[in-house]
Amino acid sequence: CGIVGAVGARNIVPVLVEGLKRLEYRGYDSCGVAVLQDGALRRSRSTERVAELAAQTRDEGIDSPLGIAHTRWATHGAPAVHNAHPHFSHGPGADAADTKPGRVALVHNGIIENHEALRAELQARGYVFLSQTDTEVIAHLVDHLYDGDLFAAVKAATLRLTGAYAIAVFHRDEPQRVVGARQGSPLIMGVGGADDTERFLASDAMALAGVTDQIVYLEEGDVVDLQPGRHWIEHRAPGSAEHQRVDAAERP
Ligand code: GLU
Repeated sequence: CGIVGAVGARNIVPVLVEGLKRLEYRGYDSCGVAVLQDGALRRSRSTERVAELAAQTRDEGIDSPLGIAHTRWATHGAPAVHNAHPHFSHGPGADAADTKPGRVALVHNGIIENHEALRAELQARGYVFLSQTDTEVIAHLVDHLYDGDLFAAVKAATLRLTGAYAIAVFHRDEPQRVVGARQGSPLIMGVGGADDTERFLASDAMALAGVTDQIVYLEEGDVVDLQPGRHWIEHRAPGSAEHQRVDAAERP
C-alpha cells in the first residue's frame, strides 16, 4: 500500500515513520520499518497504528542512516505481524525460528502473479519462507541473484517477476545503498538534506512532504540506485531484457 525509503548520514528512522504517518490516510492493516544497524538487518513490525510502530522503534533503539518502511494492505496472506513488510531473505541454512537475520530487506506494493512458481523454485534451492505473502519471493529472488551488486541483482530479478510492483530493497553487505524498482505501481524519488546528500523513495510524494520538495517521478520499467549524494536511474522497455541508463533530465 505505502512505501518509504531513505539513505543519508543521520538517523533516518524518524523520516521513515513520519512518511508512513503521511500515508496513513490510504488505509493499511499493518506496518513496519527495517534498517541496517551494526552490520545486521533489524526490523520492527506491527498490526497497530503507525504511532505504535514509532514507539516500538524508539523502545527497541532502532537507529540508522539507511532504511525502508511500509504500510500493508494485504492481498496474499492474512493481516498479521509475520506477513507485515519489510520481508527479509532467508537463504539456505536459515531456520524457521528466524534466528539468523537474512541479507536482503524488502518492501513491496502490488501483486506478484507468478509467486507460486517462484516460491517452488526458491524452496528447491533451500530458501525458507516465513510468510504467506507473494512479496517474500522477491526478497529471496534478489538474494539468490546477488553477486556483490544489489543494483544488478534487482535488475535481474525484474526479468523474473510478472505482475505489479513498486519495491524498495537494501542488502546487508552494501550499507550505503537503497534500490527501488517500479512496474505497475507508483514510485517516486526525492533529493534532500544538507548539500542534497540524502535520497528518498516513496509510493507517493505526500510521504516526503516534510523532508523535500525535490521529487523525481519514476516511470514504469525504471530501476533506481540511491546512495548518499548520488542516484542513478536505468529503464527497461516492455519486452526488452536490457536496461538503459536514463538521463536525469528525462525524469523532471
Ligand atoms: N501483495 C503484497 C502483500 O499482500 C503487498 C500488498 C500491498 O501493496 O500493501 O503483502
